[in-house]
Amino acid sequence: MGTYHTPLDLVRARSPERPVALVRPDAVAIAGAWFQEHFQGDVLYAVKANPSPWVVKTLWENGVRGFDVASIPEIELVSEAAPEAKMAFMHPVKSRRAIARAYFDFGVRTFALDTHEELAKIRAETGGADDLNLIVRMAVSTEGAQYSLSGKFGVSPEEAPSLLLAARRATQDLMGVSFHVGSQCMRPTAYQAAMSQASRALVRAGVLADVVDVGGGFPSVYPGMVPPVMADYVDSIHRGFAEMMVHETTELWCEPGRALVAESSSILTKVELRKGDALYLNDGSYGTLFDAAHTKWPFPVKLVREDDSGAELKPFRFYGPTCDSLDHMPGPFWLPEDVAEGDYIEIGMLGAYGVAMNTRFNGFGDNDTVVVGDAPMASMYGLAPRSIPTRRVEEQEERKVVRFSRVKGGKRRRRK
Ligand SMILES: *Cc1c(COP(=O)(O)O)cnc(C)c1O
Repeated sequence: MGTYHTPLDLVRARSPERPVALVRPDAVAIAGAWFQEHFQGDVLYAVKANPSPWVVKTLWENGVRGFDVASIPEIELVSEAAPEAKMAFMHPVKSRRAIARAYFDFGVRTFALDTHEELAKIRAETGGADDLNLIVRMAVSTEGAQYSLSGKFGVSPEEAPSLLLAARRATQDLMGVSFHVGSQCMRPTAYQAAMSQASRALVRAGVLADVVDVGGGFPSVYPGMVPPVMADYVDSIHRGFAEMMVHETTELWCEPGRALVAESSSILTKVELRKGDALYLNDGSYGTLFDAAHTKWPFPVKLVREDDSGAELKPFRFYGPTCDSLDHMPGPFWLPEDVAEGDYIEIGMLGAYGVAMNTRFNGFGDNDTVVVGDAPMASMYGLAPRSIPTRRVEEQEERKVVRFSRVKGGKRRRRK
C-alpha cells in the first residue's frame, strides 16, 4: 500500500486508471480506542463489516481483543492478523465441518445458536466438550434501524426460554444471550428495549446469563442520516444492563462492525463518460457501491481536481462499469455542474460494507489500496464534522435532527 497525504496527491502522482480504496488506519484506531474506553465490557469487532487484515491489526493494536467471525475464512484471517485474539463464532447456522475446525484447529470456544438443532450440532461436532461458551441469539424488535437483522436469525421470545435452559444445561462454562438491533440503528434506546426483552426471556427460563451480548448496530454518519452521539448508545446499554437481573460476574459484550470502520475508507473513482446528469464511473454496485445501488444510500462525494472552478453544485446519478443495468446508483450525488470525463470523484464513508462487497464481475473490481492522511468526510469521533458538507444534504440533516429532538423530549436544539 502506498501512502499519500491527500487524494489529490495520489491523482497528481498516479492518475489511477482503476478505482483506489483510500484507507485511514488512524480512523479505525480512534474508533477502536473510543469503544475500549467508553464501553464497560468486551468489544468484539464484527469482521464482516471490513475483513481487511490492516483493520484487524489496527484494532488489535488499539486494545480490541475480541473478533466476531462467521466463517472459516474469517477465522483464518483473524488468526493470521491477530494470533492471540479471542474469536466468537456468532453465525447462528454453521456447517458441521466449520464448527469442528473452529473448535479443534483454531481454539474457538464461543458459539452462537438460535435453535435446539444447532445446539445439538455444536455439541456433536465438539465431541461433547464441556468448555463451550454458548450464546443464544434472540430476535428482538428492531424499530429505529435502517437494516433489519432479525428477519433471518434469532429465537422468538416465546421459544427463547426453553433454548436458554437447554444451553445452560449444555455447558459448564458461559451461557449467554445476544441479539442484533439492526444495522445503522438511529435510536439509542433500542438497545435498552432489546435488553429488557432478553431479560424477560431469562426470567421465564429461570436462568441467569453469564454473558449479555448487545450485538452491533452502532451507527455512522451518512447524508440524511446523522445519528445521536455515540455516548448516548453506550449510556442506553449501561442503563439496560443495570436493570437486568444478572449475577456479579456477568459479562457485557458488544459486536460493532460499521461503527469501527465506516469512516475509515473511501473510494477514488474516475468518470469515464458523462451523459447529462448521468456519470459513468469505473466503480459501481458490483464494486464498493452495493448500498448506494440497492438501498439507495446517497454517500457523500467530493470532486478531486486541481482547481475548484466555483461551479454550482447539481444533483447527479452514477452508473457503474458493468454491462448490467442494475449497476445504477440513483443518488442524488451533489457535484459541481462542470464535472466531466476524466475527473476523479471521491466517494466517502465506504469503510463498512463498501470495500468488503467488491466483486470481480465482468472483469472489474481489481482495485488498488492506498493509505491517505486526510480526515474522513464525516466522523462520530471528532475527526471531521458530524454532518456532510453539501448544502442540500444539510437541509435534509436538519430535518432529521429536528425529528430526534422530539424523541429526546426537545433537549437537543435545532442546529444552525
Ligand atoms: C453484522 C453483524 C454485526 C455487526 O453489525 P453492524 O451493524 O455493522 O455493527 C454484529 N454481530 C452480528 C452477529 C452480525 O451479524
